[in-house]
Formats: sequence, C-alpha cells, structure tokens
Amino acid sequence: MSGIFHDGHWYGNTGMVCRRCGNPVYQSEHAEYSYQCFRCDEDLYSFEVTEQDGFYLPKVIVARPVNGISLNEGLEYLLDGNREVRIFNNQPEAEAFLLANGFIREDLEFLYFVEVADDRLQADRREG
Ligand SMILES: [Zn+2]
Repeated sequence: MSGIFHDGHWYGNTGMVCRRCGNPVYQSEHAEYSYQCFRCDEDLYSFEVTEQDGFYLPKVIVARPVNGISLNEGLEYLLDGNREVRIFNNQPEAEAFLLANGFIREDLEFLYFVEVADDRLQADRREG
C-alpha cells in the first residue's frame, strides 16, 4: 500500500489530487467532507478534487513495523549502502527491488510505501 504518515496516522493514497494546489489528497476525518489537503490545510468536498494523472507516481521510501508492531512508533526504513533511507523513484521500482532482494509478493502487503514529496524529504532526513 502506498500513502503517507501525517501526525502519526497512516493515510492511504486516494488517487485524487487537490484542484487548488495539485497535491495528493487523503481521506477527511470529517464525515461531511470527502478529502483533505495537507498542503492547503483544508478539508475538501469531492468537487474540489480531481483524478490524479495516471502517470504520476510519487517517490517512495519503504517502511515496515519493527517486530510486526504497527503504526505510530517503531517503523524501520529500508536503507541504502550508506545507511541513508533509500528513496525509490516510484512504488513499482521499490517492489521490483524488494522482489529481487529476497522478498516475496506476500511480504509486500506488510510494507508501507511512504510517498515523499521533495520538500518533505529534507524534514524526514532531519528527524532521522
Ligand atoms: Zn491543496
């Protein structure tokens, strides 16, 4: 599954983007709205979003719960040879890499493909 962590909550990719800023939108917490845009910091009605360009694939990093305990804390990220978090150009590339490195298809269901915008990447690095 692909999506993002925001304030410790996992939000799965909806395939929709904000009409105003073009960024991906995620499920709203509020029943009266359909989506929310973290970039605009607003909840949105369905007419305020549009379908994501099918060719748009965000960069992802791969995370999995430490010891199988999920969410909020205890996520470990796939690292590269320099002990940096490995960033893939998109989810299919990440899956291909994992499958070539000993993972099986079923393993992938337990992994998080965390979408990274280029400006968020810096923040994630600082925290790490
Ligand atoms: Zn927006």
